[in-house]
Amino acid sequence: MKSLQDLVRPELRGQTPYGAPQLDVPVAVNTNESSYAVPQEVVDQITRDVTKVAASLNRYPDREFGRLRGLLAAYLQRTTGEPVTAEQIWAANGSNEVLQHIVQAFGGAGRTALGFTPSYSMHPLISGRNGTTWVDGLRDADPTRFDIDGDLAVEQTKRHDPEVIFLCSPNNPTGTALDIDVVRRVYDATDRAIVVVDEAYTEFARPGTPSAVTLLPGRERLVVSRTMSKAFAFAGARLGYLAAAPEFTDLLRLVRLPYHLSSVTQAVACAALEHTSTMLAMVEQIKTTRDELVAGCTELGLQPVPSDANFVLVGGFDDATATWQALLDRGVLVRDVGIPHHLRITAGTPAENHAVLQALSAVTRGDDR
Ligand SMILES: *Cc1c(COP(=O)(O)O)cnc(C)c1O
Repeated sequence: MKSLQDLVRPELRGQTPYGAPQLDVPVAVNTNESSYAVPQEVVDQITRDVTKVAASLNRYPDREFGRLRGLLAAYLQRTTGEPVTAEQIWAANGSNEVLQHIVQAFGGAGRTALGFTPSYSMHPLISGRNGTTWVDGLRDADPTRFDIDGDLAVEQTKRHDPEVIFLCSPNNPTGTALDIDVVRRVYDATDRAIVVVDEAYTEFARPGTPSAVTLLPGRERLVVSRTMSKAFAFAGARLGYLAAAPEFTDLLRLVRLPYHLSSVTQAVACAALEHTSTMLAMVEQIKTTRDELVAGCTELGLQPVPSDANFVLVGGFDDATATWQALLDRGVLVRDVGIPHHLRITAGTPAENHAVLQALSAVTRGDDR
């Protein structure tokens, strides 16, 4: 008799599911969530709006989520200065689902997706699980350098001639934003690849970092994906979105499941978008905490990578996996992203940040060993 492992699609055989640990610890700084609760004023609005929607849950939701698209377009236009219309917006249950829609529509069996690692682990996972061949591109010929070398990116784009290209700016897990000229050059290096710029952390970027949204006019293969999970402190609501040409978003309607955004999700997201400045109020505080985390790690003799995100990739650990465990033993959960000698740490509240630095100090002095 065949086992289920024999029957499952070959590309899934022996694979393990995505699994960032969800542990009950005093200081969880491992998934780049916001440590700040949703503000009371927004909680009240959500409660009112969900109550209104509750009685009509007998009906399917607005399949085209028109009001939500309008609010997301207005937010992008206000923050990037670029005209963005509702027709250019697509949304789904987290940007992971948005990215999956792109791969379902433009990748698939016999097609190739290219990314430049280390980058977001879900890009290869979503590509592979949907039958797309993943090509692990190099960011730089020197693997200890995390910025993307534009010439090398162009060369790899031409050599692999993929159908989908993933760029990530600011990049997870390294933290730095991409020079926007690299986006322009990669786009021009191919006439057929969909170029996805994952801007999950863009609200945390240092001043003077332009969004790839400003490149959208005239580039119908360019897509900028965003999420409310990080800067909006809304990871539990599951709302990701993208901006692209209207013809592009129109094609995604072929792969989404009907009514994929529930009435409740739409109501909750719209309520938050009516209070963007309140929702984003903690971003500046988090940027300060992040910079303090960088400074504190430097003082400890570690090597933090400059960050445009709400986390810091910290290098300089003899044994990152052992340090990860030693920090966990002290109630601090960080992320081992598989880069030797490095750990990724989310900037939390000032109190959490203090606890992280205390634990790092104790662990790197060897108190625990
Ligand atoms: C966290 C993250 C996402 C967001 O995922 P959601 O599904 O929207 O919660 C997307 N891209 C990157 C690079 C991320 O780090």
